[in-house]
Amino acid sequence: MTLDADTLYLLALIVGLELSLVLVLIGRLLRGQPGLRHWALGMASAAVGGLAVGVPGEISTLVGSGLGYLGFGLSWVGARDYFARPRPLWPMWAGLVVVELAAAVLQVPESAVRAVCVAGACWSGAIAWTFLRNPPGRVGIGSRVAGSLFALLGVLLLVKALLPPAGEAGPPVWQQTAEPLGAIFFGIAWVFVVVGLASHRILTRLRDAARSDGLTGLLNRRALREDGGGVIELCRRKGRPCAVLLADLDRFKGLNDTHGHAAGDAALRQFASIAAASASPGDVVARWGGEEFCFVLPGASRERALRMAEKLRGAIARSPIPLGDRSLPLTVSVGVAWAKGPDLVDLKQLLERADEALYRAKEDGRDRVREAA
Ligand code: GH3
Ligand code: MG
Ligand code: MG
Repeated sequence: MTLDADTLYLLALIVGLELSLVLVLIGRLLRGQPGLRHWALGMASAAVGGLAVGVPGEISTLVGSGLGYLGFGLSWVGARDYFARPRPLWPMWAGLVVVELAAAVLQVPESAVRAVCVAGACWSGAIAWTFLRNPPGRVGIGSRVAGSLFALLGVLLLVKALLPPAGEAGPPVWQQTAEPLGAIFFGIAWVFVVVGLASHRILTRLRDAARSDGLTGLLNRRALREDGGGVIELCRRKGRPCAVLLADLDRFKGLNDTHGHAAGDAALRQFASIAAASASPGDVVARWGGEEFCFVLPGASRERALRMAEKLRGAIARSPIPLGDRSLPLTVSVGVAWAKGPDLVDLKQLLERADEALYRAKEDGRDRVREAA
C-alpha cells in the first residue's frame, strides 16, 4: 500500500482543525476550565501553520512558521493556566520575532521549519516541565501522561531539526509518511488527555463540594462518616486507641434570636477556624450539623483527648465574636468518648457515648468538658 504524502498532510490539517473545534466545544461544555481556550487556539494555529508552510512563496513560509511556532507557545500558556501558574507572554513573542527573522533571512522553507522545530522542542520541554514538576501536590496520572507526551514531542522535533537536508527529490518517503501520521497521532492523544484532565478536575471539585460544609469549609456529616469511620476501623484493626469529641455551642439559638442569623453564622465560622487550627495532622474535624462539631482523633490517648477538648473550650471562651463595635461572648460544651481494644467498636458507638457526655456537660451548666462513662 502506498500512502500519498500530500493527502496525508491535508488529512493532518483537517484532523488538527477538527480537534481544535473539539477543544473549543469541550471548553464550552466544561465552562471556566482553565487552559482549554489556549490549547484550542494552539492546536488550530499549529494546524494552519503546517499547511501554510507547505504552500510555496515567501509570505506563506513566514505566516506558516509564525503560526506553527505560536501553536507551541499558546499550548504552554494553556498548561500554565491549567495550574494557575504565572505565564509571562514576552518569551513567546520574543521567540516569535526570532523565528520570523530566521525565516526571513534564511529564505528557505526547510530552514524555517527547522527553526520552528527547535523553538517547538524548547516549548514542548517547558510544557512537559509544567505538567511533571509544577502541579501542586502529587503529580496525577493525567499530568504524567501529558508531560510524557510533550517530552516525546520535544525529542521528535529535535530529531527532525537535526535530520540531514533533503535532496532535490525532497524528504524520503518514510519521513513524508511519518510526519503527518505522527501529527495526527499526537493531536488525538492530546485531546484525549485534555478531556481526561478537565473531567478529573471537575470530578475532584464536585467530590470536594459534596463532602464539605458550605458555611464553615469543614468536612460535612457525610465526609465525617466516610473519613471518621475509616480512621476508627483502622485504629480497631491495629489495636490503637481512638477518641471522638462532640462540641455544641452554648445557647446558640439565643445568639441567633438576639443578634440575627448573620452573627450566628460568623460565630459558626469563628468556631470552625479555631477547631481546624487546634487539630493535628490525621485528625478528622467536621460540622456534624447545626451548631454541633465533631472531632475524630486516631491514636489519641485518653489524656490527649481530654486536653484537646479543654484547650478548645478555653480557646472559644477567650475569643468573643466581633460584632460592630461590640463583641459577643461565646462558649462551647464538649463531650469526650475514648476507647481502645475490644471497647472500640465503630463511629456510631463513639458518637453515642460522646453525645451522652455532651448532654451531661449541658446539664452541669455548659462551658465545660465531660467524659463518657
Ligand atoms: P444549648 O446550649 O442547649 O445547645 O442551646 P442552643 O440554643 O445552642 O441549642 P438549640 O438546639 O436550641 O439551637 C440550635 C440553634 O442553631 C438553632 C438554629 O437556628 C441554629 N442554627 C443551626 N444551623 C445554623 C446555621 O447554619 N446558621 C445559624 N446562624 N444558625 C444555625
Ligand atoms: Mg445542638
Ligand atoms: Mg447548642
